[in-house]
Amino acid sequence: MNTDFFEHSHHTPISSVKYTTTSQKHISFQIKRDDLIDKFVSGNKWRKLKYNFKQLEHSNYQGIASFGGAFSNHIAALSAAGKKAQVPTIGFIRSHEIDLTNPTLAFAENNGMKLINLTREQYKKRNDPEFIDELQQQFPDYLFVPEGGSNKAAQYGLKELAEEIHQQCSVTTIACAIGSGGTISGLIEAMPSKKFIGIPVVNDKPLLDSLQQKYSEQLTLYPNFMFGGYGKTPIQLTDFCYDFYQQTHVPIEPIYTGKLFYALTELEPNLGIDFGQELLVLHTGGLQGLKGLSYRHPAQFRQWQPIIASLDV
Ligand SMILES: *Cc1c(COP(=O)(O)O)cnc(C)c1O
Repeated sequence: MNTDFFEHSHHTPISSVKYTTTSQKHISFQIKRDDLIDKFVSGNKWRKLKYNFKQLEHSNYQGIASFGGAFSNHIAALSAAGKKAQVPTIGFIRSHEIDLTNPTLAFAENNGMKLINLTREQYKKRNDPEFIDELQQQFPDYLFVPEGGSNKAAQYGLKELAEEIHQQCSVTTIACAIGSGGTISGLIEAMPSKKFIGIPVVNDKPLLDSLQQKYSEQLTLYPNFMFGGYGKTPIQLTDFCYDFYQQTHVPIEPIYTGKLFYALTELEPNLGIDFGQELLVLHTGGLQGLKGLSYRHPAQFRQWQPIIASLDV
């Protein structure tokens, strides 16, 4: 085991860009570029996995097991980190079979991850302690990390991100996309004096209610930018992502960061904050997801091929 990969200081830059909307409005964004940490162990996944791997060094576990959908950024990141750190990994995948023509799963397998498919019914139990116990008994040498990597160890990595942000800028407000909510929760707790704008991409009402209640002082949620649900990619959204990249040269994808920037562009006139001065937008990475999207929707993503090729994900 060798977790040096997570030792490199990753003070990612903040890019200031301008985006012109179709109605000719100019919007400034300051973007914390965690997408630049690594192509695959990218963004919040690097932040969340770092102390899971570190913890492994001081434990009796030999490997890490986790859960994800068939195109999961977390699964891609875990497999890549496992390869770099020489730590065996297992991915429990929500799928009726392991389709190795799927680029994310092929990548994970290539990194040495053992892939095990779970039926929809089994997958629903991914957070049930009894189900985890059963799996733990089958794989006693593996540390089980929840879907998305959001656990206690993840919070340490997010605390480091918060410290980095404090050193780099003095914004009042931070915006980020919300999946499992682990990233935004970690940041909110580490930055009690900042306000947060959360853009949920998964329609999980209990999660959003609990976040809203727990962090009512600091967090405002805007749940109207899901575009029909997790992973949905209507043309209006993918065109926005494409145009945003053409103008700013900051690559985004429609599952997380695309919805975040789209929402902010729409909300900007009404939020009453100066985006150029007061707002930092967290780019949580996840660009490998573009490959899965172009696999699922080849015609819609044809024009993305050169971008995907240049990102080399
Ligand atoms: C996983 C992921 C998220 C969601 O983060 P949570 O901590 O689960 O809320 C956001 N953006 C990208 C690019 C991701 O891959």
